[in-house]
Amino acid sequence: MRRNYDLNAELTSLRRDLHRMPELSGEEVETATRMANWLRDCAADEVIVGMGGHGVAGIFDSGEPGPTVLFRCELDALPIHETGTPEWRSAIPGKGHMCGHDGHMAIMCGLARRLQQKRPARGRIILLYQPAEETGEGARGVIADPRFASIRPDFAFGLHNLPGMSAGHVGLRAGSFCFASEGMEIHLAGRTSHAAHPEDGISPAAATIDLAARLPKLPSELGLTPEDGLVTLSHMRLGESAFGIAPGESWIMATIRARTDEVQERLMAAARDMAARAAAAAGLGIDISTAERFAACFNDDDATDILREAVTETGTPCVELDGPFRWSEDFGLFGSVCPSAFFVLGAGEDHPQLHNPDYDFPDEIIPVALAVFERVARGRCG
Ligand SMILES: [Zn+2]
Ligand SMILES: [Zn+2]
Repeated sequence: MRRNYDLNAELTSLRRDLHRMPELSGEEVETATRMANWLRDCAADEVIVGMGGHGVAGIFDSGEPGPTVLFRCELDALPIHETGTPEWRSAIPGKGHMCGHDGHMAIMCGLARRLQQKRPARGRIILLYQPAEETGEGARGVIADPRFASIRPDFAFGLHNLPGMSAGHVGLRAGSFCFASEGMEIHLAGRTSHAAHPEDGISPAAATIDLAARLPKLPSELGLTPEDGLVTLSHMRLGESAFGIAPGESWIMATIRARTDEVQERLMAAARDMAARAAAAAGLGIDISTAERFAACFNDDDATDILREAVTETGTPCVELDGPFRWSEDFGLFGSVCPSAFFVLGAGEDHPQLHNPDYDFPDEIIPVALAVFERVARGRCG
């Protein structure tokens, strides 16, 4: 056991090293290796690697009966070129830890150190470093991994840092916490013709423009407010960049979001239906694909109470949030496995926003989250 050393300094140094070497969703090889080595160095009883991709799970097993409590963080960075200039800025052009997953990993590594220093007295604690959060693939992959059965938790907890909120303040609420979301790409196919004779082809132009105008209004047509669900157009393309050709194809990309998985399914079905009708009416072929599906994140009452208690006991300032966030978090899927709760941790009121090119995780909030997570762990497992 290490004594008389500065855990915060060690975690800050680790966080900055992780920041220098970002890896994208599904490519987190070096980061995963580093986390697995850290867990072994912290004397985890078992380290599972390659879960649902490059996921890593460290198991601290008391050997005594008791609950299995899982804490989850994310391994992946983003395809964003860092424009900030900290000494520890990304060494890889075009890639950066612009969501703060480097900080979330450092918090979990701190918890591993604390568990090394004082082992759990009952049950098991699982530290899960999940891959591919940004694409919504990681949680699904980890849960579908056959080895997940061996670490199936009784409770799961996670967090995300949040610029715009005072540094080190916790935001919490029971019930809906983050929206579900999914990307939809609609491909309409007609036939090109000479621009002088558009009547010889089948142009998707009118149907595409009509759909692009109507899709965002779909939630209100279904009687939903933006606090229940919304459709956001994200990209469109019609034909080719040429003057002499009447277009034969178009693409519309939209992101569909909703407060609950049920409303999400309704919106997705209604959007498919609207697109199919528009294509049929215009004599166009249609192909719809979807990607980046995130389940809604729903905070269980009991799990939220456990978190709230830990926040209070550690003297952490806490804001009760009055509604869910419209962004998505694939942590939501753990709610289908066990009671789970998620919270946001303020990154500073004037801090650059998540996914901005000058974002950098604020190291000073690492100990705040570590204290809360450790309190949750000790409360369940001693
Ligand atoms: Zn992100
Ligand atoms: Zn994130």
